[in-house]
Amino acid sequence: MIITVASGKGGTGKTTVAVSLALSLTTDARNTRIPTNPLMSCNPLYLDCDVEEPNAALFLKPVFEQRDEVGILIPEVDFDKCTYCGRCAEVCQYHAIAVVAQKVLVFPELCHGCGSCTLNCPEGAIHEVLNVTGVIEMGRADSITFGQGVMNVGEAMAVPIIRQLKQRAIPSDTSEQVVILDASPGTSCPVVESMRGADFVLLVTEPTPFGLHDLRLAVEVARDELGLPIGVVVNRDGVGDRGVDEYCAAEDIPILMRIPLDRRIAEAYSEGRPLVEALPEYRERFRELYERIEGEVQVRYQSGGFAQSSSNTLSIKR
Ligand code: SF4
Ligand code: SF4
Repeated sequence: MIITVASGKGGTGKTTVAVSLALSLTTDARNTRIPTNPLMSCNPLYLDCDVEEPNAALFLKPVFEQRDEVGILIPEVDFDKCTYCGRCAEVCQYHAIAVVAQKVLVFPELCHGCGSCTLNCPEGAIHEVLNVTGVIEMGRADSITFGQGVMNVGEAMAVPIIRQLKQRAIPSDTSEQVVILDASPGTSCPVVESMRGADFVLLVTEPTPFGLHDLRLAVEVARDELGLPIGVVVNRDGVGDRGVDEYCAAEDIPILMRIPLDRRIAEAYSEGRPLVEALPEYRERFRELYERIEGEVQVRYQSGGFAQSSSNTLSIKR
């Protein structure tokens, strides 16, 4: 089961929800609860995909065991072979390589690493070299396997780092593994990459006009464009207006959990303490949230409504 926790808007409590959901599903947390769900036989895998500003580690405090540089393959020209024919520049859709007189210029910050220039060079004069844009760190936070991508300062392309983090960390069979992806805020390409392949997208919002505006955008991406099942967590419930409730009712989007505005939650956040540790009574509520997500996925599966979700979930053991 792959769950992406996202929010159209920053500051809605996305990481608070993702971290608490993961902590509530650990074996330790489940020991108090019998029977356990067979789906949850493994401890969760948590991936912080907010590579521009990862912050889940502040709450989960993982010990990192592995750190690898990652990036994209960019062209490097062998000028002994190059005839300056200009073919590489013609095929580059991103204007990342230019041939000027007797020079071939590569602009790494524009290159998407698509490889077209290398494939199309008639002289075989291009080879590819790794342009490091960030790191992937893997480790453990007690019984949670934790991974994060960290993009280097000044880099612009987050998607390749997120893609490589997912490829390295997510097992091929997730039928008995809960994977929680903590997406960046917004609805841009990094968020789409974090949602792609998920079985469910959990959208965290707040009941204000700003929250509603950005929730609509997130729904357009997750449900309307990617075809994924979605649900909403309303954080700071009670502030603002009823716009989010009315929108979700009209769009038939389930509100799976409400977290009231509570000073104790804000204090725990400011101290880097997860919600379920500061207020243990929330553990059960987050386990119920997981079960509601599981139910939504099952309904969608049984109705044959999967579009791009992980095929692994189709072998869910019940
Ligand atoms: S396509 Fe190859 S030979 Fe032609 S200009 Fe580019 S690098 Fe040089
Ligand atoms: S790898 Fe792709 S994006 Fe980069 S320079 Fe070559 S053609 Fe352009």
